[in-house]
Amino acid sequence: MSGTLFVVATPIGNLEDMTYRAVRILQQVDLIAAEDTRHSRKLLDHYVIRTPLISYHEHNEQQRSVQLIEKLRAGESLALISDAGTPCISDPGYRLVSRCRQAGLPVVAVPGPSALIAALSISGLPTDAFRFVGFLPAKSHGRRQLLEQFKDEQQTLAFYEGPHRLLACLQDIVDVCGADRQLSVARELTKRHEELFSGTAAEAIEYYAAGRVRGELVLLLGPAPQRQPQGTVKEELARLHAETDLSWKQIVKRVAKEFGLPGSEVYKVSLELREAD
Ligand code: SAM
Repeated sequence: MSGTLFVVATPIGNLEDMTYRAVRILQQVDLIAAEDTRHSRKLLDHYVIRTPLISYHEHNEQQRSVQLIEKLRAGESLALISDAGTPCISDPGYRLVSRCRQAGLPVVAVPGPSALIAALSISGLPTDAFRFVGFLPAKSHGRRQLLEQFKDEQQTLAFYEGPHRLLACLQDIVDVCGADRQLSVARELTKRHEELFSGTAAEAIEYYAAGRVRGELVLLLGPAPQRQPQGTVKEELARLHAETDLSWKQIVKRVAKEFGLPGSEVYKVSLELREAD
């Protein structure tokens, strides 16, 4: 009989957010694979969990996955945890889970906290559909390119971001998506200094420029206001080509959506412009 891999969510700040089931599973498994064993030791000590730990992080994922698969095949049960929240969500784990699935080994979720879901749940932004983009690129150029791609998104967009880059990100959002774009910043969730900011991008800059931004945060961008197409298809294509870093493919897709036209039709118009370019 092969063992089971349990993917166990752990608190994102407040130790009381551990589920009963998570504690029991972590006590019962043969081995816990943790992103940072020293960090996780504190949580495990708190719940008197004495199960041995092994490191599993982005730098040893490949090789460690092979070892862990062998253990599962040999019948050992394993739990995977990350430093905080749900493993595999912008955290290591995906390779191990994927290998288990390929090998036909059972993988079981032990759900619990995730900063993404906690932030969405209190933001007041639409959550019937949302798009999680993970961490924003560290450099402004990359960030702006990504924001260009998503600026007309009709779903709430969710990003993980570090506090030191928040202001620069907000500035890029103002420049690319507009000063009036609604957003939320969920900071230090479940911790003593928990805070949720909601307002426009310009208001957010004003708010956060006043002092040093600290702690962990999730940035949520509200859906883009419905935009009425302006000018002709050709003019809009030319405008986007001149004003953005988008590829022709992205531009065609966006204009087709804006004007409610088939992509092939807009593509033909774009060819005229590209030839003239
Ligand atoms: N797997 C985790 C989860 O499910 O939430 C996320 C891991 S990711 C490496 C860490 C990022 O999550 C942080 O940079 C921050 O953006 C966000 N985060 C984690 N804890 C948070 C908290 N207490 N409040 C707000 N954001 C948090």
